[in-house]
Amino acid sequence: MTREGQPAAIEDRVLERLGRLRLTTTRETLSALLSEAAREQWTYLEFVDHLTRREAEAKQEKRVRMGMTIAHFPTVRTLEGFDFAAQPSVDERLVRELATGNFLAHGTNVLLFGAPGLGKTHLAIGLGRRLVELGHSVLFTTATGLLTVLSKAESEGRLEEKLINCVKPRLLIVDELGYMPFERRAAHLLFQMVNRRYERGSMMITTNQRVSDWGTMFGDEVLATAILDRLLHHSETLMIKGESYRLREKRKSGLFRSLDEAEARTAGRSQSKEDRPAVGRPKNVDK
Ligand code: ADP
Ligand code: MG
Repeated sequence: MTREGQPAAIEDRVLERLGRLRLTTTRETLSALLSEAAREQWTYLEFVDHLTRREAEAKQEKRVRMGMTIAHFPTVRTLEGFDFAAQPSVDERLVRELATGNFLAHGTNVLLFGAPGLGKTHLAIGLGRRLVELGHSVLFTTATGLLTVLSKAESEGRLEEKLINCVKPRLLIVDELGYMPFERRAAHLLFQMVNRRYERGSMMITTNQRVSDWGTMFGDEVLATAILDRLLHHSETLMIKGESYRLREKRKSGLFRSLDEAEARTAGRSQSKEDRPAVGRPKNVDK
């Protein structure tokens, strides 16, 4: 096939080279691009400008798509979708700073504390997604998921291999630490992982357990101190307080007036009440 005044041989050569240079978008859209250039009467420089921009954008999109797949986020949550006004205890300025990814350069850890339903996972995914968009590698896992993988690897004699894998992503997000109590062996596995990443790569951890309860959570004060020591050495902390976002939304819609009244009666009994996971809540209200 020949374009006007252009032997097929040139086009074939160009297509072949574009393939070799992995300029796939340009390769796939070359004839449309050439027609557009003729129609719009682009200068040579404008032509190169359009070509390189489209190729770069497509490459970036592909990189982000792959990064998101590799990260294994369980759901889509974004920073844009986080209602900071509804959660005044969240330091928005700190979240914006973390969203730049600068903390990754220093191996700084990020710890998100708070009772269930306060948006810890939402923020962790939102930040993780932003960092993937910026080109960083992220891996999202839950504490239970991570320990299942590590325990299995250990029993198969492949723990070392798995620990090395855990160090690879620029950011490792461990969600829901403390929702399940730890057995001694599991706590020790977690320690080994934290120790590996210590000063090598950032971790982001969400937990419903206050630092003072970590000894009980791990069933071992010494181990808990050793883990905390490494995590907190270079770290940023987000303490989220208040009540469950979903519960709040339902309350606003008037569904929980009786719950409101019950809570009003018990309010003020304990100062640290709101630091703790909400207990005794009626079933299914958080769905
Ligand atoms: P946690 O991990 O602290 O238990 P989640 O992040 O799972 O809480 O939040 C529970 C639900 O409420 C999620 O669907 C989340 O998207 C939503 N949510 C929580 N806080 C906010 C907020 N401030 N703005 C928007 N959605 C929120
Ligand atoms: Mg969560």
